[in-house]
This record gives sequence, C-alpha cells and structure tokens, in this order.
Amino acid sequence: MSSGTMRSLKKRVTARDHNTCYMCGREADDDEVLDLEHKRPISQGGSPDDMENLGLICQPCHDIKSKAEAAAANRLRRRRP
Ligand SMILES: [Zn+2]
Repeated sequence: MSSGTMRSLKKRVTARDHNTCYMCGREADDDEVLDLEHKRPISQGGSPDDMENLGLICQPCHDIKSKAEAAAANRLRRRRP
C-alpha cells in the first residue's frame, strides 16, 4: 500500500473519529499527532485498508499496544521452539 493511500485513509479516519484515540477515547490536542493504527494487526489477519479495522491511536496507547503485541509474539515463539 502506498504512503499516499495511507495518508488519504488517515484523513478519512481522522474525520470519522474526530481525531480521537480509539483505545483511551481521548481527543488529541491541537499540536498532537495521532498514529493511524490497524486495530487487528495485518500479521494476524487484519485488513490493511478496511475502515472498520483502522483507528487513531495516541503515543502512550501505541507504546502499550506495541509492548503487548511483542509479549504475545514472544509467548508464541516460546511455545513453538
Ligand atoms: Zn490513547
């Protein structure tokens, strides 16, 4: 998917969600940039460009989610050596 596609998707999600983080429900400050995030990671079968699978996420939530996903991946790795 091109970065231009991501940009236009982000614009649509930002308008739909009113620039609000989908995890904590907080509205972004004027100078804050939320990241476009796949609610279900593509690596886990999530759709890359389905509006339903896209949300905006603030930096603190992004950190938490990234760590949780990394921990889940580690657990998976340990189960299958
Ligand atoms: Zn958040």
